Amino acid sequence: MSMEDALRVRELVKQHTKWFEESLPMIASENVISPMAMELMITDLHNRYAEGLPGKRYYQGNIYVDQIEEITTELAKKLFKTDYADVRPISGTNANQAVLFALTSPGDVITGPPLEGGAHISSAKFGAVGMRGVTKIEYPFDVEEMNLDVDLTAKLIRQVKPKVALFGRSVFLFPAPIKELKDVLDEVGARVWYDGAHVLGLIAGGKFQDPLREGVHVVTGSTHKTLPGPQRGIIIANPPGEDEEKKAKFWKKIQRGVFPGVISNHHLHTMAALAVSLAEHIEFGAKYADQIVRNAKALAQALYEYGFKVLGEKRGFTESHTILVDVKEQGGGRRVAVDLEKANIICNFNLLPYDDPRKPMNPSGIRLGVQELTRVGMKESEMQHVADLIKRVAMDNEPPEKVREDVIAFKKDYTKVHYCFGDGEYPAYPFYELFRV
Ligand SMILES: *Cc1c(COP(=O)(O)O)cnc(C)c1O
Repeated sequence: MSMEDALRVRELVKQHTKWFEESLPMIASENVISPMAMELMITDLHNRYAEGLPGKRYYQGNIYVDQIEEITTELAKKLFKTDYADVRPISGTNANQAVLFALTSPGDVITGPPLEGGAHISSAKFGAVGMRGVTKIEYPFDVEEMNLDVDLTAKLIRQVKPKVALFGRSVFLFPAPIKELKDVLDEVGARVWYDGAHVLGLIAGGKFQDPLREGVHVVTGSTHKTLPGPQRGIIIANPPGEDEEKKAKFWKKIQRGVFPGVISNHHLHTMAALAVSLAEHIEFGAKYADQIVRNAKALAQALYEYGFKVLGEKRGFTESHTILVDVKEQGGGRRVAVDLEKANIICNFNLLPYDDPRKPMNPSGIRLGVQELTRVGMKESEMQHVADLIKRVAMDNEPPEKVREDVIAFKKDYTKVHYCFGDGEYPAYPFYELFRV
């Protein structure tokens, strides 16, 4: 019986994989990994432990792991043009926990973006921020600009004098106004923390903004959203302080926040995969990031021309991989996202800035990300087709099952991974059989 259960799960994984191969995955936080990165994930590294840093381990057996970690760290430094990188966090939330642990104490006050303005749950009182016993005071949001209201945010920062000022969001259409706020952040002496989970691949590709050069002290992020690597996290920094000693002290605090702060073993198989993904992004990241932003703008424009209420119109809809659409007139975010799923178009319903944050289950918006469609080879002209498929479900109310047939036919030409070693040669949605039934 238990064998049957195991095989049943295996069969479900196969079905899931095939479904995604035949779908348009548009969840803005997802991506597909390259063949060489995938290969290293199903290796003996998965079975092992390493704690601490290379050369300072608490376990034996890390001779090769140490070299792998050193190379991964060097690649991260090179990609993000910094001397400070920690590749051990096992997710973006985990990286955030480490920074909170390092830079705050229970009872502290920090500032950050509001939930309905796209902040991540880890910065909410029921997330990692709350768990640290820290209070987050929210920046005022400007719906027209789809960004923080710079003047009111400056005023708030001056009033609150936060120990840490957090920027970065999960609905991240336009760069955070770090340059505009730099003077006031300096004035109150805040540590500036940028959560770049969503846009890390765009930043590394030279698109979007360059937080470390704009006055940010520490950047956290996930390595599997626009940076198309394994599910994992990273911390990079430009530490504050006039001299190397002060900088080193800040960085040591961050690294101790990671270990022993919030992780023990740091998942060595995905770390090796990350090394490959970082190397690939050094090579292909600029081209990939450029195409992502082009595609997002093209999709937004096409939907707008069909009559959809795409947010951020005033500023050209988006500067990232994400677009946000108000579908209240089409029955609300939930209705649209559920019907799109039946048509094999996978996205999420999303709070809009003017929605009630206490009612997250039926908001007015959907969030669409184009980073995975770009990764499997789609360009601007394909975005027009994607917009058409979305319109048929959301606006024309065609039966989703009928649209699904067209989605499956359309997707057949986009099942290989691009912007990686072996560009265009390997399946994006593989299932590797290791077990013989
Ligand atoms: C996705 C996201 C995270 C969390 O990352 P995980 O890797 O899923 O833990 C943190 N912050 C922001 C802004 C995010 O969008």
